[in-house]
Amino acid sequence: MANKIQIAKYAGILAICFALGIFAGFNPLAVRVDQYAYDRMLYGMRDTWTPQSAVVAIDEATLEAGHGMRGIRTILAQTLDQLALAQPKAVALDVTLHDQVDPAEDARLEASLRVTRNLILPCQLAGTTWEDPAPRFRTLGALGHVHTEGDRLDGVSRQIILERVADGQRRWALSLEALRVTLGAGNPEESPVDVAVGNILIPAPRKDGRSLRIRYLLPGTIPTISALEIGRHRDELRGKTVFLGVTALSAANDRLVNPYGVNFPGVEMHAQAFETMAHGQFLVPATNTTTLAVCGSLALAAGLSFWFLTGWRAYVLIVPILAAAHYFLPVQFFARGIVLPYVAPVAVAWLSSIGAATYRHFVVRRQLRKSESEKSRYQQAIHWAAHEMRTPLTAIQGSSELMTRYSLPDQKRNELSNMINSESKRLARIISTFLDVERLAEGQMELKREPLAATGLVDTCMRRVTPLAERKHIGMFLDSNVEGTLLGDRELLEYALYNLLTNAVKYSPADTEIHVYSELRGGELHLAVRDQGIGMDAKEIKRIFHKFYRTKRAEASGETGTGIGLSIVEQIVFQHGGRIEVTSTPGKGSCFTMIMKAHVSAPTDAETADRRR
Ligand code: ADP
Repeated sequence: MANKIQIAKYAGILAICFALGIFAGFNPLAVRVDQYAYDRMLYGMRDTWTPQSAVVAIDEATLEAGHGMRGIRTILAQTLDQLALAQPKAVALDVTLHDQVDPAEDARLEASLRVTRNLILPCQLAGTTWEDPAPRFRTLGALGHVHTEGDRLDGVSRQIILERVADGQRRWALSLEALRVTLGAGNPEESPVDVAVGNILIPAPRKDGRSLRIRYLLPGTIPTISALEIGRHRDELRGKTVFLGVTALSAANDRLVNPYGVNFPGVEMHAQAFETMAHGQFLVPATNTTTLAVCGSLALAAGLSFWFLTGWRAYVLIVPILAAAHYFLPVQFFARGIVLPYVAPVAVAWLSSIGAATYRHFVVRRQLRKSESEKSRYQQAIHWAAHEMRTPLTAIQGSSELMTRYSLPDQKRNELSNMINSESKRLARIISTFLDVERLAEGQMELKREPLAATGLVDTCMRRVTPLAERKHIGMFLDSNVEGTLLGDRELLEYALYNLLTNAVKYSPADTEIHVYSELRGGELHLAVRDQGIGMDAKEIKRIFHKFYRTKRAEASGETGTGIGLSIVEQIVFQHGGRIEVTSTPGKGSCFTMIMKAHVSAPTDAETADRRR
């Protein structure tokens, strides 16, 4: 199972993917993609509620029937008179009346404006000042700004700025004023996050410049009636909020493009903004917390899939996660009026999936390599065991053959039968040690607990290892008296100490020294084996007790080994309630210290006999 470091690494990779994904969402190209996705989703909703507004259009035909834009004030006056007969709820005018033109024409228009119920007049920003209607019209209705603009990046008009300030004077948008007048409400009530008109709460935070996303109704949903044809459409205009403006291509200077890609006149945008507010269902951008939570959940989901599943199952699970990022989440949020950024969650989902998959791929490969190398080492261990057994077996076989085939002198026969006896005991010892250690490791064996003198243990092992040391001209020294009595399994403890000694010989060059040192301290026996051999670094020391591990230096030394000896030694010492400490310097030598519980007591008879031997 995975350890904490693995979990931390994996979490780190996911965190990086998460951060990169969020970061990717900020670049201008990503913002364009976000907008494109927004337009598609808006189109996907195809809002078509019954509109409360209508556009009365001063179109090409109307201008032609009058005297073009020169006669606009007369045209307006006639149109307003016609409109009055239709009894609309309110009339919002999108034709600026800033200049004083012909006094007679203006007087005619003024008269028409006076009889228009619930009138909203336009004002416009010219540089840093407001262009209000001329003084004679100014007081005849409410005032709303008609400023519209397309997106900075692609020119598409997605939102309208509700509040504009210039000259120290603040003006609400024509559409908002139209709503207020239609509802018969007082001044809008503001808070930092919204604006209330009557009982409609419009989410338009001050920090975003009080912008409002328009939920465009499909083209044609808001009726557009030519100013010339009001008479025929009175029923459609009755009770409606009418937006009156120029739509003729030749004259309208405020044509825009909506998210559906349709080119339309500014007056329609005011009507659309009005509809959004009057309908009371708004689109608001997701808060940073929501966006981060969505992205975080996607990264987590991708991470968990590759953590708990492997192979094709993990990849299959990634499909719905990516589908959620690409489609379900943005659409579901949109349907609830929340606009999620599109690129950031998609980028996080993809990067996290790729990051998690890559990490898992490498981990699986590493584990495979490790298990393969453990397998081959295990095979080596079997070979070694077989090899160890073959030596005494060959000796036994050879000796017994000699004895049966030839008539040998008594002395020789004695020698041979002693050899058979001692070699078969060795064989039995090897086998039982292996089996004992396996059973010990699996907790199936009760340890023998006999008292044994430490000195006997040290003597036996040093004696056994001396011939090996002599072959390499290595001197063996016992640097102190060995005192104390241990409680434990003689065979196993001998195996452990013998192993430390043979390792010291194996991993030391010729003409060096091995020192054994013993000390009784605080009820513990410290038994140290110090050599002047190849040594190890700190990292290697941590691993030498793992089964089958060998240091590079040991491999390079040409000494054969399997890397299981020390794991057995550790197991034995551990089962006896003791521990092993290792200090080592590469190229200088190592010191292995077995630390076991011991007591200073008179040795038993058996131990005394043992010492004499
Ligand atoms: P083996 O000797 O069969 O390789 P061990 O389990 O006895 O296996 O030892 C494991 C590894 O620990 C060795 O391969 C060697 O790298 C290192 N080692 C053990 N004892 C010593 C020592 N005295 N000096 C240097 N390295 C040692």
